[in-house]
Amino acid sequence: MGGKRRIGVLALQGAFLEHQQVLARLGCEAVRTRSADDLERIDALILPGGESTTIGRLLVDFRLGDLVREKARAGMPVFGTCAGMILLAKEIIDSGQYRLGLMDMAVRRNAFGRQVESFEADLSLRGIPRLVHGVFIRAPYAERIWGEAELLAELDGKIVAVKQHKLLAVAFHPELTNDLSVHEFFLSMI
Ligand code: GLN
Repeated sequence: MGGKRRIGVLALQGAFLEHQQVLARLGCEAVRTRSADDLERIDALILPGGESTTIGRLLVDFRLGDLVREKARAGMPVFGTCAGMILLAKEIIDSGQYRLGLMDMAVRRNAFGRQVESFEADLSLRGIPRLVHGVFIRAPYAERIWGEAELLAELDGKIVAVKQHKLLAVAFHPELTNDLSVHEFFLSMI
């Protein structure tokens, strides 16, 4: 077979362009994903940051949510950053908003508080030998994980990276830095 890996980036709302650029730097073909046809052409999918309520509503409007869920359950690797992490969670604390509900975690939105709407931090992430640079923007964290979910990183005791088989969720935006290690880590899961 060979050829470039085709990685979809859900392009309904949010920071999808930056993910495309990182994927291109890593030698992948980045596929803007907005339709069922797009979903058929990809080996894995990235859910970008943005506004999780908006992306969730658009997943319903574009009739993509059920398809993404089915494909993920059938083994398609999915990587959610920030709002993408929220969409992957089974539980969103104090919110009934739409979610894909694929990962065994309860997330809290905008969880670091108003005073620290955005900040940057270096953190150690299990499976990556160097410190990872993370940009946090009105970021969530996981208050609880259970079942099959595996803790990958914490910041000040708060869970900010989680893996569950072929699903990866991080609370920060690795696509906004020059640090490609989290994307490389995801590609190694494919
Ligand atoms: N606070 C946003 C939400 O709840 C997520 C922010 C982000 O993706 N940078 O959806």
